[in-house]
Amino acid sequence: MGYVSGLKCRECGREYPVDPIYVCEFCFGPLEVVYDYKKIKRVLTRKNIEKREKSLWRYKELLPIDGEPQVGLKSGFTPLVRADNLAKALGVKELYVKDDSVAHPTLSFKDRVVAVALTKAREFGFETVACASTGNLAHSVSAQGAKAGFKRFVFIPATLEQSKIVASLVYEPNLVAVDGNYDEVNRLCSEIANKYRWAFVNINIRPFYAEGSKTQGFEIIEQLGWEAPDNVVVPCASGSLLTKIWKSFKEFKEIGILKELETKVFAAQATGCSPIAAAIKQGTDVIRPVKPNTVAKSLAIGNPADGFYASHIVKETGGHAEDVSDQEIIEGMKLLAKTEGIFAETAGGVTVAAAKKLIEQGRIGRNETTVICITGNGLKTQEALTGHTTEVHHIKPNIEAFEDVLTRIGYSK
Ligand SMILES: *Cc1c(COP(=O)(O)O)cnc(C)c1O
Repeated sequence: MGYVSGLKCRECGREYPVDPIYVCEFCFGPLEVVYDYKKIKRVLTRKNIEKREKSLWRYKELLPIDGEPQVGLKSGFTPLVRADNLAKALGVKELYVKDDSVAHPTLSFKDRVVAVALTKAREFGFETVACASTGNLAHSVSAQGAKAGFKRFVFIPATLEQSKIVASLVYEPNLVAVDGNYDEVNRLCSEIANKYRWAFVNINIRPFYAEGSKTQGFEIIEQLGWEAPDNVVVPCASGSLLTKIWKSFKEFKEIGILKELETKVFAAQATGCSPIAAAIKQGTDVIRPVKPNTVAKSLAIGNPADGFYASHIVKETGGHAEDVSDQEIIEGMKLLAKTEGIFAETAGGVTVAAAKKLIEQGRIGRNETTVICITGNGLKTQEALTGHTTEVHHIKPNIEAFEDVLTRIGYSK
């Protein structure tokens, strides 16, 4: 089995065999997985996909594994929700929420990348898996690594939300909290990856790991009835998810599953960490690293590895980018919750608030079909809402006290 023809440098095009490597030895460009699309085209058809189990592995020919899937067998195939209430609130006709906050083992889209990364780690013969994480990756590596029987080292910035730390610790990984921001954690992890033979999912096996993100894009197309949307709005940390959603659309076109592809890709970031959105808005190629300061901690990567490629895709497809303040993020989370009954984490607030701005600016057309990507569950970042929710009605246990509440809120039958 296996449909991968090798690895290739995204900059100079030099080719490499399939190994746990991630940068070009000659130009230091990032390596990317290359597939034999002619071969895939013969086996991967709409009919074949539709017959398969509803998980991210239904697109396995377009994922970089040689044998059968081994990890995250139930991950993926999350709901695509037609969001008519939110559409009305934002003043558009057709809006969908791709809801990766549910149906995954650890309730974020990181379960996609980790399913692929850990299957590949096993194929490479690694016994220890590791990651540098802004929170969600830590959950997924801790949980899925436990189930698959790997030793696990998980590195996070020490300032992460308390609830995010607990949600990793429960799986008993070796959790290392580093005094520093994500970019400093990542730098340390690159050094460790050079010294220890571990599978750092987002460092030395990053080319394979990142491919898992494509499954969110494949599902969007399939769930829209094998059509591409006019617009897709994607939250960006390193920018990897955005590049892979676009890659997935192009691959479906390449193998003939998609007839037309004219989607515009939009990037969403928090103003407190918006190196990718800033470059796009300024019309430059140069991603200027920043020191993150935002409630959207899962997106707080100041020096984004795929920022350059993400900004190119946005430009090439005719999309745009927006960044939103912490206040707008909270408003975005609340709007999604009260219109669609979906509790997303801060990153979801970023996506909703950015989409709102892009619609108001006319960059997203009111009569077009738009998909917004919700990537993580709100129960993970409850602290962010402290002081921003409506009040509890606290009463004595009698009917008069309760009816006082009804009077106070002006309820009438
Ligand atoms: C990791 C993450 C993203 C995006 O990550 P990229 O590095 O841009 O691929 C988006 N949302 C959430 C909730 C995440 O945890």
